[in-house]
Amino acid sequence: MSFEVKEKDLLARIGKLKTKSGTVETPLLFPVINPNIQPVPPRRLKEDFGFEAVITNAYILKKRFQNKPVEQGLHKFLDYDGAVMTDSGAYQILVYGEVDVSQAEIVAYQEGIGSDIATILDIPTGWKVNKENAAKTVAETLRRAKAFFQTKTRSDILWVGPVQGGRHLDLVAKSAVAMGKLPFQIHALGSPTEVMESYRFDVLVDMIMTAKMNLPLERPLHLFGAGHPVMFALAVALGCDLFDSAAYALYARENRYMTENGTWRLSEMDYFPCQCPRCARQTPQDVMAKTPKERETFLAEHNLYVCKAELNRIKQAIRDGRLWEHMEMRAHAHPALLTATKKLTAYRDFIEKHSPTTKRSGLFFFTSVGLARPEVTHYRHQLMARYCPPADAKILLLVPQTHTKPFHKAQEFKKISKAVAANVHVCFYAAPFGVTPLELDEVYPLSQHETALPLDKETISYVAAQVADYIQRTHYAAVVLLHDPQLWGSSVKTACSKACQKKGTRFEQVDVKAEGTKNILTRLEMILKKNLSE
Ligand SMILES: [Zn+2]
Repeated sequence: MSFEVKEKDLLARIGKLKTKSGTVETPLLFPVINPNIQPVPPRRLKEDFGFEAVITNAYILKKRFQNKPVEQGLHKFLDYDGAVMTDSGAYQILVYGEVDVSQAEIVAYQEGIGSDIATILDIPTGWKVNKENAAKTVAETLRRAKAFFQTKTRSDILWVGPVQGGRHLDLVAKSAVAMGKLPFQIHALGSPTEVMESYRFDVLVDMIMTAKMNLPLERPLHLFGAGHPVMFALAVALGCDLFDSAAYALYARENRYMTENGTWRLSEMDYFPCQCPRCARQTPQDVMAKTPKERETFLAEHNLYVCKAELNRIKQAIRDGRLWEHMEMRAHAHPALLTATKKLTAYRDFIEKHSPTTKRSGLFFFTSVGLARPEVTHYRHQLMARYCPPADAKILLLVPQTHTKPFHKAQEFKKISKAVAANVHVCFYAAPFGVTPLELDEVYPLSQHETALPLDKETISYVAAQVADYIQRTHYAAVVLLHDPQLWGSSVKTACSKACQKKGTRFEQVDVKAEGTKNILTRLEMILKKNLSE
């Protein structure tokens, strides 16, 4: 097995990928080497920037240099001793419609130059393609993939099986299933560049998730053309392990300065928000005064440092179990990214199924976006499938979340607990987990999280729905709600009342804001007593 997973968080993994030029760690960024114009020499990418792998284009090498890279070997030709991946010319097919090389030729060429990771000559679907033509690209890519295994001669190269289909998700699924059955070591999701250029990160989420859900999970997934650090966190969280970036160099040529929160025009900058070795000693004005060539090199190097730093932050976040928090922070760099992050709700069951749900640290819950967190889904599933209220519980007393946790140790609850008699089962209703039975409130992560207040509408609705669902699934004789209209409005009350009506359960409520503490206690005691005796 060439890929070994060491750490996981969400669908992200820190892994070891074994290539014939050495083992590299994922998530991994391959800077794109353009053999024609390269602003930073490949050797320096490893020695000065720590990039363990690069990617270059076998089609361009073949066209421009013919047999020279074969004679010298790719690593010597590039003057780079890390892992080298080659693309096959599929991108040129996307841009120019076709290439004047056959798949057999480009496969043989990649074997000849000694690529560590190589790609078959797939047919990229592209973005504005109708379904009929998209289906053709999927079928032709699959045909070529099958033919490839008849002609390949080397077994020490990791071969990439690209998944096509573009925005037609049923085709992406079909492509992923078929490619996953072939013995590729790595898969790649084709043609997302145009999707990203048009800021359709929401479509990208659908494409990645569809590919992920239909590919063998134990194989690494490469996201072609995803070179901007602003979206690394989202893509890594969804299980993309490998990326390539031509953007660092393309942006540099256009005087654009990357940050993990977006891109600035150098000419519009007064300050550098970065302390990389390039930015630390210069101002944007200094750099503007340079020759175009020097400026391009400066920006390319800065862009590489930013990409590397963001990947390091992501890896640390994976180790700390805080990738969700990191991804949510980045999601606020652009509305399109937040829109995409909101889409994760649609995939929460799959994310939960393949994510670790116990962490070293507590969770930060900011908004309803966090409802898609695997911990929230996991708790909901567990409560539904495995939890039964105590056998002697006659009345369900629903208490609103307290300011401190665990709930049962909070001052607000201590006062109320005086009114709690035998056969009364206390459950807290709280964001984001919904119903928390008192006896479970110290179980991770029910006390190990911080929630921003006031809650948004979707979060309140979610909790109200969880409460209603709990009432539906249990068999108390009566439900008593301590109603906190200040935090919850009327949602929880209405949900409880409806659920009880449907179930034929008695329902009472006490408004904790309308009555003084003493009155609440007296009223609560009275209600509990009355219902217990009935
Ligand atoms: Zn910098």
